[in-house]
Amino acid sequence: MNAEIIAVGSELLLGQITNTNARFLSQHLAEIGVNIYYHTVVGDNKQRLEEAVKLAQKRADLIIFSGGLGPTKDDLTKETIAQMIGTTLEYNEEALEGIQSYFDKTGRMMTDNNKKQALVIKDSIVLKNDNGMAPGMFVKSSDKYYMLLPGPPREMQPMFLNYGRPEILNVMEKVERIESRVLRFFGIGESALETEIDDILMKQTNPTIAPLAGDGEVTLRITAKHESPEEAVRMIQQAEDEILERVGHYFYGYDETTIAAELAGKLKDKQLTIAAAESLTGGLFLGELTAIPGMSAHVKGGVICYTNEVKELVLGVKKETLTEFGAVSKECAKELAENVRKLCGSRIGISFTGAAGPDSLEGHEPGTVFLAIAAEGQETIIHSLKMAGSRDGVRKRTVRYGCHYLLQ
Ligand code: ATP
Ligand code: MG
Repeated sequence: MNAEIIAVGSELLLGQITNTNARFLSQHLAEIGVNIYYHTVVGDNKQRLEEAVKLAQKRADLIIFSGGLGPTKDDLTKETIAQMIGTTLEYNEEALEGIQSYFDKTGRMMTDNNKKQALVIKDSIVLKNDNGMAPGMFVKSSDKYYMLLPGPPREMQPMFLNYGRPEILNVMEKVERIESRVLRFFGIGESALETEIDDILMKQTNPTIAPLAGDGEVTLRITAKHESPEEAVRMIQQAEDEILERVGHYFYGYDETTIAAELAGKLKDKQLTIAAAESLTGGLFLGELTAIPGMSAHVKGGVICYTNEVKELVLGVKKETLTEFGAVSKECAKELAENVRKLCGSRIGISFTGAAGPDSLEGHEPGTVFLAIAAEGQETIIHSLKMAGSRDGVRKRTVRYGCHYLLQ
C-alpha cells in the first residue's frame, strides 16, 4: 500500500507552523509498511485542495489529510472530499453529544458553526477525538482510501494511533507486510563486508539488504515484504543464514543491541568473571560493561594503570619489560592481562595499552594498540591493532575490539 499525506492549512504555506503532522504520520506509516511517496501542503482553498486531491488519487492508494476539520469557514477538508467522492455530510450523534456536553459543562451556548464539527462524511468510519471536538474519518471510494485527521497535533496523534492506524492495518491485512531485522558486525569494514557478500547483495530484491556503516561497525538491515508476516520472517532468516555462512565470524547481535551488551550476556551465560587493566582506555571498558545491570557477579574489578609506576607497582609489570619494550608493547599488554587476572582473582583478564593520540607515544604512531586476553589455564592471546581516527574514536573502538575478541 502506498500513501500520500496532504496537510491542509495556509499557516503551513506562510511558514508560521512546521508540518510536524506529516513527519509524525510518515514515521508511523513506515513502521507498518505503508510506503509514503509524496507529502503535499495546500492552503485553505477549495480549488487548490481539489487539484491536490486529484493528483493524489492518481498516485496513492491511501490519502491522509491533516487539518481543516474545525468549525470555521476556512475549514473545508471534509466538505471538499465528500463532494469529490460524490457523497454528503451527516451529523454524527456521538460527536454531537460530545460537543453538547462540552458546552453544557462550560456553561456556554453552542453555536451552529460548533455543531458543524459533528458533521462527518456519510458512511465513513468515524475516528473518535478524545482531545477535542472534531472527529476524524476513514472512508473508501473507488478503490481509494481517505483518512481525515484534525490539525492540532495533540488531537491528531492519539486519534491516529488509537483509531486511525488500526483501520489502516485492517485494510492492509491482505496486502504486503514488511518485516525487518538488523544484523550487527564488528571487526570488518563496510567495503570488506560488501565484497564478501557482493553476489547476495546484487541478486536481492525481496528481501532487500541495506548496509550501513558507523562508529566502527557495520550493520545490514534485511527487509522482506510478503502477505504473510511469517513468510516474510522466513525469507529474512534464509538471507541471514546465507550471509552468516560467509561473515558470521564478525556478527555479534541483532537490532538494537551493543557489543558490550552481548559480552555481558556471554559472561552471564558462561558464568565467567573478568578483570581489566586499562591504560589506554582509562576505565572506559569497565565503564561500559558495568553500565549493564547484573554485572556484579561477573566483573571482579580492574586497575586504571595510566602511568608506568602503577603498571609496575600495582600490577607487577617487570621493570625490564617497561625499559626494554615500553608500555606500548605486546610484552607489557601480556603481563598486564595476566597480572590483573591474578590480582582480582577472575577467570579472565584483559588489558589495553597503546597510543591514543594526538601525539605519538614511545615512538608509536597514534592508533597503535595492544590488547591481551589472559584466561586461567590458557596461553595469553595478544592482539595488535592499528587504527586511524581521533583520540576519542581510537579509545572507544579499542573497547569494542576488546568485547569483540572476548566474544570469539
Ligand atoms: P481546529 O478545530 O483547531 O480548527 P482543524 O482540524 O481545523 O482544527 P487547522 O485549523 O487546519 O485544523 O489547524 C489548527 C492548528 O493545528 C494549527 O493552527 C496548528 O497549530 C496545528 N496544525 C495544523 N496542521 C498542522 C500540521 N500539518 N503540522 C503541525 N501542526 C498543525
Ligand atoms: Mg481550523
